[in-house]
Amino acid sequence: MRHPCIKRSISVLLLCIILLLSGCAPQKEVSCTRTVFAMDTIMTLTATGKRAEEALTLAEEELLRLDALMNRHVQTSAVARLNREGMLEDKELASLLLRAVALSDRTGGAFDCTLAPLIDAWDIANGGRVPSSEEISTALSLTGSDTRISIRGDEIALAPGTVLDLGAIGKGYAGERVRSIYEDRSVTGSIALGGDNCLVGAKSKDSPYWRVGLREPGSSDGIIGILRITDTFTVTSGSYERFFTAEDGTVYHHILDPKTGCPARSGLVSVTVLAKDGLSADALATALFVMGESGARAFLAKEPDISAILITESGKVLYSAALKDVFSPENEAYTYEVF
Ligand code: ADP
Ligand code: MG
Repeated sequence: MRHPCIKRSISVLLLCIILLLSGCAPQKEVSCTRTVFAMDTIMTLTATGKRAEEALTLAEEELLRLDALMNRHVQTSAVARLNREGMLEDKELASLLLRAVALSDRTGGAFDCTLAPLIDAWDIANGGRVPSSEEISTALSLTGSDTRISIRGDEIALAPGTVLDLGAIGKGYAGERVRSIYEDRSVTGSIALGGDNCLVGAKSKDSPYWRVGLREPGSSDGIIGILRITDTFTVTSGSYERFFTAEDGTVYHHILDPKTGCPARSGLVSVTVLAKDGLSADALATALFVMGESGARAFLAKEPDISAILITESGKVLYSAALKDVFSPENEAYTYEVF
């Protein structure tokens, strides 16, 4: 008969082998980083948790999948197909567009995902050109989320001539999807999608908050201030991000005013929006930029869940009273005002 101690050792060894083979071995908490190039930008993801590596792999796959779904310039994408054929059945795109149409309505049309004809007329992606006023009015006649998109269940139909561009919400939606990958695996971390951020969970055991530097418009290393936040999307739209200078010296940037069909001249150089969901943060950063200081302030007064930091051409930084305890001004070249 075998000694009971040897028997127990064999059982423990067998259990360890079974656990290892089944992948259920107790994991250690790890911190990892990954860089992904998608949606025309560099994305940096950090993750901490027992399943951090797995979360990053899934996040990378998801970012590439979403790029292939929403990029209207990739002929095989769902959006390109919808633009070409005028109709499409797609559950995910239908629910995304429902939210986009609602955001357009909520912003009085300042955010509008049907602006592709105008975006193409200005062609900023290829160096830019100033379209004639006829071109602008023809393009404008093909825009308007309220009348040109209809959604019934999973079926989407576009009015003839409508072309969608999801450039102002793609990263916000992608951030939401990555956040849920993190949350489902109890992973914390930062999701930086080309300057737009989402912080998930506590920074560390000692500090729940992350410090996020708000970039100075047009500067590569200067900052305007520091935000101490978590579980929030922080999205910035700025006129300095993509622009071209015409022969007469006029600078034209990439955020278009859907009313005029031209780059918004709102007196703002940058808008940062903080919100609980990525799609709203992204769409509203673009929309508040178009609205300008007074329009943005009137909008924000009715939206207690949205906070913003507006930077004017004259060097004023205006920020929501709700940010008073979490935003610290850091740049003496600017004046700061709470509203
Ligand atoms: P970024 O892409 O630099 O983060 P935004 O989120 O502000 O900037 O999106 C700007 C992009 O969205 C433009 O390049 C264009 O493709 C599209 N766009 C421009 N103006 C508008 C608008 N008023 N509403 C919706 N989309 C817009
Ligand atoms: Mg945006």
